[in-house]
Amino acid sequence: MRRSYAYGIAALLIVMTTACVTAPVKPLTAGEHAYGQDEDEKKLIQRSSELDNELRRRGLVLQDAQINAYVRGVAARLVPPAAASAVPFHFYVARDPMVNAFALPNGSIYLNVGLLARLENEAQLAHVLSHEIAHVVQRHSLQQDRNRRATVVAANVADLLLFGTSIAYLPAVGALAGHSRESEAEADRVALEYMSRAGYPLEGAEQLFKLLQEVKQKESAWGSVYSSHPDNQQRAQATREIIASGRWATNTGGANGAKEYLRLRDTLILENVRLKLNVRQYQLAIESADGALVKNPSSPWLHYYRGEAYRLMAEDPAGAAREHAWINDKKYNDDLVAEYVNKKQALLTSAREAYQQSLSADKGFSHAYRGLGLVAYDEGERQAARESLTYYLTHAKEITDRPYINNILGRLESQ
Ligand SMILES: [Zn+2]
Repeated sequence: MRRSYAYGIAALLIVMTTACVTAPVKPLTAGEHAYGQDEDEKKLIQRSSELDNELRRRGLVLQDAQINAYVRGVAARLVPPAAASAVPFHFYVARDPMVNAFALPNGSIYLNVGLLARLENEAQLAHVLSHEIAHVVQRHSLQQDRNRRATVVAANVADLLLFGTSIAYLPAVGALAGHSRESEAEADRVALEYMSRAGYPLEGAEQLFKLLQEVKQKESAWGSVYSSHPDNQQRAQATREIIASGRWATNTGGANGAKEYLRLRDTLILENVRLKLNVRQYQLAIESADGALVKNPSSPWLHYYRGEAYRLMAEDPAGAAREHAWINDKKYNDDLVAEYVNKKQALLTSAREAYQQSLSADKGFSHAYRGLGLVAYDEGERQAARESLTYYLTHAKEITDRPYINNILGRLESQ
């Protein structure tokens, strides 16, 4: 579950493109769009399909039938019919805690768990989807490709190389789904048209920009349209102006689908916290869990994952120090690691408290015993560790780590 990560690569050079004059690319809603017929576009489609396969192979595509069906249902209302017949659109949820979404020129659209876990209603989701659909419909990737002028942009992606999931595919995504400012503005404009046609209140778009302004820079990916960027304020302003102009009908006060969305959000939030732990973002996992607990204080899982974050920090002082350095733009060094080594006891105590809270929320919550058992093991409390871990193995419904726990029980026996 620990992924190796490269560290200290300051910048990755990526060939980005800037606008220059070439033949205009017709959108897929135009009568004679000839999608996928010229060589450049064929290549883009081919590379997109390869990336699709790669993401699936790496387990980055969320397999949750309910969430996938919901996202696809909302998307189906937004894709313009003329484009739907031209491109096979596919919508995926990416198992990535970064706040990001992207569209590939073959019609594959990915929304990260990290983004979905932050949204509050369906109208906001509709805006995200519409924006990405618009990139495909307007063929922004082909435009980028056509307009290529060798401009080398140094994008600082050291942050991303740090923490796992995004490493492998981001440069590939950037090459296929990185767009000019003009394209982003166009996607924002077109997105309002799609939302309006599907009957969503356009204020969802404004809410989305507001939410995204609260996202910490470290949680949004490079190359992300949603990264903290000065452009975001301009985009929010432009969106407000279009809405105020009344150009697109808005279903003011209409259903924004909050109920439908919130029904699935707990699952997304838990997945997001889990993904953060997988890539050793302990502090960020705690913050996400804390945020979610404000609304849902009796979720045994949220308390449990808080406990996991503290316990893993105690067991992985180097990882905790790296994250701390990364979040706070500090230098990672031995002193910082030593600070976490010194905090071990306090971290284990916090972990224990969180597992206890998880039991207060649900006294039969067997994963809490797993956590308590592992903390007891770390503390050298053999009897308590044995009891809790045995309880977990005999009571939990879904056990994916039986060999690991059995191994620890074996070590406790032989000591
Ligand atoms: Zn975009």
